[in-house]
Amino acid sequence: MKKLAILGATGSIGASTLSICRLQPELYDIVLLSAATSVDKMLLLCHEFTPQYVSMSCPVATKLLRKKLAISRIKTQVINDEASLLALLASKEIDSVMAAIVGGSGLRTALAAVEAGKEIFLANKEALVMSGQFFIDAIQNSGAKLWPVDSEHNAIFQAISPSLQNSIGYCDLAAEGVLKILLTGSGGPFLNLPISQFSLISPEQALKHPNWSMGKKISIDSATMMNKGLEFIEAKWLFNAQNDQIQVIIHPQSVIHSMVQYKDGSVIAQMGEPDMRVPISYVMGGKKRIESGVEPLNFFSCADFSFTQPDYNRYPCLKLAIEACYQGQQSTIILNAVNEVAVNAFLKQQIKFPQIAQLIEKVLSTSLTTLVESIDHLFSIDIEAKQKAQQIIKRDLVC
Ligand code: NDP
Ligand code: MG
Repeated sequence: MKKLAILGATGSIGASTLSICRLQPELYDIVLLSAATSVDKMLLLCHEFTPQYVSMSCPVATKLLRKKLAISRIKTQVINDEASLLALLASKEIDSVMAAIVGGSGLRTALAAVEAGKEIFLANKEALVMSGQFFIDAIQNSGAKLWPVDSEHNAIFQAISPSLQNSIGYCDLAAEGVLKILLTGSGGPFLNLPISQFSLISPEQALKHPNWSMGKKISIDSATMMNKGLEFIEAKWLFNAQNDQIQVIIHPQSVIHSMVQYKDGSVIAQMGEPDMRVPISYVMGGKKRIESGVEPLNFFSCADFSFTQPDYNRYPCLKLAIEACYQGQQSTIILNAVNEVAVNAFLKQQIKFPQIAQLIEKVLSTSLTTLVESIDHLFSIDIEAKQKAQQIIKRDLVC
């Protein structure tokens, strides 16, 4: 049995991961669960799974959970601080880590697991978008095993040769005959809404993804297609792809989760119901096809498949992300940081939907170019970009 840590256990990916654990109890021993503030959800998980350790990033939540666990006489140990959490992740007590915290807050823990050479199931795409080459270098240095969880990257992973699968982060696509990675995306809930109505979009409308059920941040990212932009950058790092080796295709039905185009004319696609338990069971089963609880795809009830090119007037965030990917590490850190601020501000109705892209563009275009020298430097760029974005929101954008 492998010893598993689930970071972001109370979220949408956390829930799918735990449902695979319920179906396959013999595969993993759940040693650590982490979250931020959801004390009651975490308490329920402790009742059910009795992990050895639990960690809440919020100090108030930490105290409250400790109290509630004591009342329930559950022996799970509550970790006090980030340093102890990072040490635990690097220790022999953990073999495998599901990195499913949302946003840049997940970077330090994901990186700690990578640096310690663990097996990483990576859902937290923002961690890779922010740290890029540092993350990949850490994999190479430590021998960590990285498994892509994001459905598109998991689909690509399933469609490439074992030699490419075994060299995630530094593979040679062309040597294996790969022409292009075809990243599919549904286009989100506003694929057909007139662009003139975009400033009227409410958070409730933007949170309603047509095909997938996900956390709030990724749902808004899917509506702007920033999600596909982050995935473009994620694909670059995971598959060591040049920018012209990745193409985004709108496929509104979300049945094909991505494809790989080969030089002999073949295209290999991975299909299935839009349900994260499919990619999660694939990585947790170590490529074995295990029970995921997902219904088989019924081709006779699928709508016709369609494919179109993304329109950058409709999805300016996608264009910004692809441009940032071409520009390099500093731009992708800023893009991700400002997007996090912008999505929060939109959810709080401080800015309008089209202003998400405007804010990102403004901060990107007014930042001086610098080489990212270290992880600490990376975080200082992240913080500075977030502060700049907050100032612009207060000064110019509040609705
Ligand atoms: P959710 O918002 O549903 O869950 C986020 C999880 O992260 C929660 O457990 C939350 O805890 C925890 N968390 C938030 N902030 C912190 C923090 N500062 N420190 C520690 N834990 C924190 O997100 P999703 O599950 O939807 O997404 C998680 C990641 O997976 C994202 O990076 C997303 O892009 C990626 N992903 C998600 C997919 C999906 O279908 N949902 C698909 C592909 C990728 P709490 O409940 O206490 O707030
Ligand atoms: Mg995805």
